[in-house]
Parts: sequence; C-alpha cells; structure tokens
Amino acid sequence: MTHRPILTHTRAQLAEALTKMPGTKALVMTMGALHNGHLQLVREARELADHVIVTIFVNPTQFAPGEDFDAYPRTLEADMDALETVGADLVWAPAPQDVYPTPVTVSIDPGPIARVLEGKTRPTHFAGVALVCSKVVNLVRPDVALYGQKDAQQLAVLRTVFTQLDIPVRVHAVPIVRAEDGVALSSRNQYLSDDERARARALSRSLRRGVEVAEAGAEPAVIVEQCRAVIEAEGGIDVDYIALVDAGTFEILAGTESVPVGEGAGAPTVAADGTRQGRLLIAAKVGTTRLIDNMEVALHAAPCSCSTHAGDLA
Ligand code: AMP
Repeated sequence: MTHRPILTHTRAQLAEALTKMPGTKALVMTMGALHNGHLQLVREARELADHVIVTIFVNPTQFAPGEDFDAYPRTLEADMDALETVGADLVWAPAPQDVYPTPVTVSIDPGPIARVLEGKTRPTHFAGVALVCSKVVNLVRPDVALYGQKDAQQLAVLRTVFTQLDIPVRVHAVPIVRAEDGVALSSRNQYLSDDERARARALSRSLRRGVEVAEAGAEPAVIVEQCRAVIEAEGGIDVDYIALVDAGTFEILAGTESVPVGEGAGAPTVAADGTRQGRLLIAAKVGTTRLIDNMEVALHAAPCSCSTHAGDLA
C-alpha cells in the first residue's frame, strides 16, 4: 500500500517529521524532475530501511555561473505524485535559505578526485556537491544514503568525503536506469530536440562498443579509442572526455591523466588473477545539452593479441 509522503520545506518541519520516524532511515537526494532512475533509488531504499526520506533541491552551490541553474526543471507536484507510487515516507523540498541560512563561508575540497573529468570541466561542482550532501546527511542522520551510478564520479567523491570526514553513513550505489533505446535517464534529457535525442543514443552505443572490445581483451587505451570512434562516426557530438577508471577506486586507467586516489573512494577491484572491473565514462554535448553516461567493463589481466584487432568487432 502506498501513501502520500509528508512534504516539508523548512529545517524545523524536517526535524519535527524525523522525530516521528523511529527505526532505520534511508536517504535519497535529488534535484527533482523525477524519472524512473530516481524512483529506482527510492525502491531500493525501501528495501534497506524502515523509512525513506527524499530530498528535492536544486543546489545552487554545485552550479557555476552560466550553467542551467535557472532553467533546471522544477516540478514538485508531479514529483510528489511519482514518489507516492514508490512509497517514500518524507520529502524535504527546501528553499536555498533553508539549506544555507547564513552566507556560506565554509567549503569542502574533496581533493584530486574532484579536479579531473567532471571536475576539470566544472571546477566548483564537486565542492558544491560535497557541501550539500554533507549538510543534508548531517540534518537527516540516515543509516544509508543511496546514489546512482549515473553520476559515478559523484559517488566516488562522496565516498571519499564521507570516509575522510568520518561522516557516519553507509553509501549504497544503484545501477543506471536506461530508456528502451539505451539512453541513460536524466532530467536534462528533456532539453533535447527529437533529432538530438536520436543522436544521444550514440553515447550508450559507444560505451557498449568499449564493453565489447574489453571482453575481447583490448587494453585500456584501445577501449577508449574504440568508444570514441563510435561517437565520431555518429557526428554532431562534442566530446568533453572519454576515460576508463577502476570501478572501485576511480583510479584513471586511460583517457586522461591519472591522479592520486584518496582514501575512501572504494576498494580496488583487482582480482587474484589480475583482472579488474573498469568503468568507462563519457561526457559530451549534444546540441547545447551536456550529457554524461558510463558502463562497467571487465578488464583482462594482460592484453591478448586480439586487442590490435578490436576494430574488427561489429
Ligand atoms: P539528480 O536529481 O540528477 O541530482 O540525481 C539524483 C540521484 O539520482 C543521483 O544519485 C543520481 O546519480 C541518481 N540518478 C539520476 N539518473 C539516474 C539514472 N538514470 N539511473 C540511476 N540513478 C540515477
């Protein structure tokens, strides 16, 4: 049986509602304009705790001037309807002044992991994410917080920040939810024209190509190269980066310069036989819309001779 979640806006309302929720709590943080990817986080949260708390907040500190903070879709009523269908218990939809009541003079620098890939293009982004996530976790005090693999670097940054700041919360990662055509669900997909949406399919296609050549034994640089070739063949897509990282630690293996991995990002995925799990990541603009996507790839211990023939694969 589903029920309408309790809707709160101020900190006092949130605190009051939380006092009526004994037992374990799971936190799902969103910026709203909810789609099935967000709802999957809530469904998994239901399995992990007695109460599910969802936040809906377009966080100004993670947007740089010129990004889409003002244009970002805000659809609270529809979000509440969607959350009712998946059994969220409590929604906190604060205004910026409820989250940042005084001028913000404190910042969190998550370190080297926040300066590559997304962090290189959006230099202030992860400091804003780290700040809002730390504050909300401190206000809600959940047992577990769920984040999507769609934002894989965000997950690695938050694991690092929570570990190194001793913020006592378990982080649970949820796999990416995709549309039938393979496009990863994103609130920003609604910016795409029909043509652009069709072109956006090339992102997941390029990642699948990377997965295929990895399975055939390709080495990291070749995997990235083959992924890029699919995007170039499609045309009209402006690639920001394509990179391969260790799926556990986020150590960069190919596509861009490596950086030291901070404590907490995750456990290394290297198995006794030398194989490891990688994650192939892409960020690209389709029209004016910047999209990100990624997939897990199995990396073989030693490149086999077939890597040089990776281009022969369908
Ligand atoms: P956002 O509202 O974009 O900040 O996303 C809120 C949370 O939902 C983040 O943890 C995202 O990683 C997650 N999320 C967004 N899209 C998807 C998706 N397609 N599949 C899984 N998780 C997602």
